Amino acid sequence: LDHFLGTTWRDVVNSVLSRGQKSAVYMPLLYKDWPASREEMVKVIDEKAALDPHFPRFVEYCRDKGYHLEIVSDGLDIYIQHLLARHNLKDIPYTSNRLVFEDGTARVESPFRSEFCGLCGNCKRQRVLAARKTLASCVVYIGDGISDECPAGHSDIVFAKGSLLAYCRESSIQAVPFRDFADILSLFPEVLAEWLQSISVHGSAK
Ligand SMILES: [Zn+2]
Repeated sequence: LDHFLGTTWRDVVNSVLSRGQKSAVYMPLLYKDWPASREEMVKVIDEKAALDPHFPRFVEYCRDKGYHLEIVSDGLDIYIQHLLARHNLKDIPYTSNRLVFEDGTARVESPFRSEFCGLCGNCKRQRVLAARKTLASCVVYIGDGISDECPAGHSDIVFAKGSLLAYCRESSIQAVPFRDFADILSLFPEVLAEWLQSISVHGSAK
């Protein structure tokens, strides 16, 4: 966004946040009269955006263990798709907002908004609840930002950094701090084992 909009977009985001609103409000403001084409955006993504270099190893780990892995993003499909394709990870399911290019301009669509929340473009809480409903006995959530606040309180295990870690501490949500996916990989088995033990202790006490 710095590349296309300078730094003023941060003021837009901060003023929306200060009114208690979130991305459902500021995303359409940022992607209004959007100055770039899809091709220009992909070029900038190639130059500036990078996946955590340890993430592919984490994908492999989940595959080996048979853990379902999905990406929930309150960002945009264009860079998620592009970064995943670059790392041969296109088969990982994801949800996000969509950038639609039409008649030389772009607008944002948020097909995963939730009526319940109304604040997020993609309310990740919905995905956590859906995962729990269909397949997960333990939901592990990994996040770092404002849009991760909705789902954090509904997950069994939370790995957090950045503003999410601060939010978890303020809200008494238990969270494991991490820096990158190398940390996640080394902490994961132990954290999961602890969770399983806490469940069995809880279960036998009944
Ligand atoms: Zn939400």
